Amino acid sequence: MIGLSCFKGSAVLAVIFICKGLECLAENQIKNNDLFCFVLTYSYLCSRKTSKMEKMEQSPIYILGIESSCDDTSAAVLRDGILLSNVTASQAVHESYGGVVPELASRAHQQNVVPVVHEAIKRAGIQKEQLSAVAFTRGPGLMGSLLVGVNFAKGFARSLGIPLIDVNHLQGHVMAHFIKTPDGNEVAPPFPFLCLLVSGGNSQIVKVSAYNDMEVLGQTIDDAAGEAIDKCSKVMGLGYPGGPIIDRLARQGNPKAYQFSEPHIPGLDYSFSGLKTSFLYSLQKWVKDDPDFVEHHKEDLAASLEWTIVDILMKKLRLAVKQTGIKHVAVAGGVSANNGLRNAFHDHAKRFGWTVYIPKFSYTTDNAAMIGIVGYYKFLDKEFCPIDAPAFSKVTFK
Ligand code: ADP
Ligand code: MG
Repeated sequence: MIGLSCFKGSAVLAVIFICKGLECLAENQIKNNDLFCFVLTYSYLCSRKTSKMEKMEQSPIYILGIESSCDDTSAAVLRDGILLSNVTASQAVHESYGGVVPELASRAHQQNVVPVVHEAIKRAGIQKEQLSAVAFTRGPGLMGSLLVGVNFAKGFARSLGIPLIDVNHLQGHVMAHFIKTPDGNEVAPPFPFLCLLVSGGNSQIVKVSAYNDMEVLGQTIDDAAGEAIDKCSKVMGLGYPGGPIIDRLARQGNPKAYQFSEPHIPGLDYSFSGLKTSFLYSLQKWVKDDPDFVEHHKEDLAASLEWTIVDILMKKLRLAVKQTGIKHVAVAGGVSANNGLRNAFHDHAKRFGWTVYIPKFSYTTDNAAMIGIVGYYKFLDKEFCPIDAPAFSKVTFK
């Protein structure tokens, strides 16, 4: 209510809310409504009155991307699809819990979103009034986390008088391959291509026929690959997130030292919960005989776990290539940062004549650049979303 009255022109109330927003920032205790009012008010006072139509016809096109689906608060600015800035605040608060705590994640997003967006715009070297549209992650993700980014994006876009663009987080991961940088050395995959999308929440093989035409050919029926890695790391007492730790240790270990059970799932679907259980039971047995087993063998354990997961992923991907005849194959998502998986892609390119596409490390885990690039393509197609569009905790490609 009060935020809306600011929009109608009450400068007095606007000043009161800016003071309130700053007070909240100073005391580090921003709540949802405070934040929303602060952003609306601040943007209202600073924005020029540029109409939506003027913005749509302008050139170049500046897109602000906002990502807040899990535990990374990220903002990016793109000019005509070229990345100018990509700022991410990761949340260390979850480390001691061995996994993401949803309530803590949304609180951290509330603290981070204003400074992260501010920094992204500053690093891009533009004024916020130059933005053409705001693209935001609408889902899937943790509802509390999503709500912060969604409401911020709505307030910011509304106050600047520019369109709002909703982005599917999974589509963002796949489209990370289309982010251009000023040096322009990137090679984007041609349509159609296959994409192995592997993260903490998803393991899917996707057929990508266009930026907005993606079909899931197979996916995990239980845990995601990243989730399995994180949980195995946790039972070894190695910390969270486990992915980068396992990756580092695996470089020094023997991938054939231990064997863990592999799933027998028909078709192109995956399963990782059996592997996780097999890893846990084996470890419990070994630790019973030698309490220092993990300490003495962590490199071999990490290398064998990584080898098994990569083997499971690549087997189904080979089947997908065989079934579709598509040999342009990309990888995306947080687990695509894994060196063992990246090497397996290069190896398959040599052995099977695939053309492979491996993202830069900075575009593997959650980031706003990938949300911005989808926003750019949707902007060109004038695919905007209404101000009352809700967030989705679960959503797939179609
Ligand atoms: P989300 O599932 O929320 O979209 P991300 O796309 O950011 O998450 O992926 C996070 C996952 O990626 C975590 O499970 C993390 O352990 C995993 N990960 C990150 N880096 C690596 C790595 N080098 N090797 C393996 N897994 C990794
Ligand atoms: Mg992700």
